[in-house]
Amino acid sequence: MIDKSKIPNEALEVLDTLKENRYDSFLVGGCVRDLILNRIPKDWDVTTSALPEQVISLFSHVIPTRIQHGTVTVLMNNIPFEVTTFRTDGNYSDNRRPDSVQFGVSIFDDVSRRDFTINSMLFDGEQIVDYYAGLNDLEKRMIRTVGHPWVRYQEDALRMMRCIRFSCQLGFTIEEKTLEAIKDECESIKNVSWERIRDELVKILMSDRPVQGIRLLQKSGLLKYILPELEACVGFDQQNYHHRNDVFEHILKVLDATDSRLNLRLSALLHDIAKPKTFSIGEDGVGHFYSHHIIGAEMSMEILKRFKFDNETINNVYILVKEHMARYPKLRSGSTKKLINRLGKHNIDDFIDLQLADIIGSKPPYEFDNVIDLKREIKHILEAKEPLSVKDLAVNGYDLIEIGIEPGKRMGQILNGLLEIVLKSPELNTREYLLDIVRREYN
Ligand code: ATP
Ligand code: MG
Repeated sequence: MIDKSKIPNEALEVLDTLKENRYDSFLVGGCVRDLILNRIPKDWDVTTSALPEQVISLFSHVIPTRIQHGTVTVLMNNIPFEVTTFRTDGNYSDNRRPDSVQFGVSIFDDVSRRDFTINSMLFDGEQIVDYYAGLNDLEKRMIRTVGHPWVRYQEDALRMMRCIRFSCQLGFTIEEKTLEAIKDECESIKNVSWERIRDELVKILMSDRPVQGIRLLQKSGLLKYILPELEACVGFDQQNYHHRNDVFEHILKVLDATDSRLNLRLSALLHDIAKPKTFSIGEDGVGHFYSHHIIGAEMSMEILKRFKFDNETINNVYILVKEHMARYPKLRSGSTKKLINRLGKHNIDDFIDLQLADIIGSKPPYEFDNVIDLKREIKHILEAKEPLSVKDLAVNGYDLIEIGIEPGKRMGQILNGLLEIVLKSPELNTREYLLDIVRREYN
């Protein structure tokens, strides 16, 4: 059932060292599940009867990761193993974390605190130990909580997100009550930190089934708490001949047409988020969403800040949402260079793929030509290494100071003026020529 050659020797050595010292020890949770499914485990968790101090004394490289919860990280040949003492969790009064944890309990108690049956299996180096029929659920391809789902979600509301996440990552269905209980308990997701919610949302978006994940979040009631802006798109009729779907369905189609890259998937999810807010009906009876890309970029920034994403991700997604309409009207060379500047070279692949996905998500006939042309033109401009921004100019601020221009706003205007010239005629980007212009026109 488990191919031992897929387990690093170091993992078996950790188990053996503990056993030689008369402690029980098992691989546990996601790594056992993934080994049985023939997937590559993301990380290695070990559970043991040894107390953290005992673990520390047995291995030479140990980091006391969350020692108050019984977890230390054993490093062996640079592979980290999270080793946790058998424990049960005390009361949960805040839907997030136990008020206390107790050690010195049985392996059965330890397994009982785990979230889903498929995450509750143990491997002792030889055999699988399966108290909650996890193997049976793996075979049925089903997510089911260990114990009563209502109770388990009340203890830790993040488990609702994890449930949906595992179903997307593994392509499993969710057992009826396990899903039903999310509908009843969804509001308690409010008590979970945005960072933890974000991490699960990212895993859902990066999985092979992001659309299934967003649908499940919506149907189960979680979406309205974590992304009310997206919930507002559900059933929102666009009344526009470019679209046959409501805004939510359109967004899901676009998401479905993206590769698994985080900025791309986030911007697909958020690109039309401002449509409900910006909706108006023209005299012709057609729906319009003027400036939805600009307001959408602002909203995306707020949303991603709320989820405590890093600044780089926030900025990149902001730019992608803001520029997602750039294919209209058809761009000319000078404006394509400005577009490249606004995007930054690192966002170009995501930008092009978002445009293509947006077209796939709209109504046929699909007109990809503008985007393909734009992609070709961008490639051409980048390959020719033509100047694109002020920093590519053959002169800089110091050169201008030397010929008598004071640093400040006016200097910025002059440099931008030079850039305009060079964007149109790259061959004029020489120091002599540019300084000459400044001397003639600005001195
Ligand atoms: P991944 O593939 O993302 O690592 P995983 O199942 O290993 O998935 P981890 O977050 O690494 O998930 O947690 C390891 C194990 O700890 C889980 O398999 C589960 O047994 C237990 N666990 C983790 N988080 C919770 C939780 N919120 N509630 C109950 N048990 C949990
Ligand atoms: Mg894991």
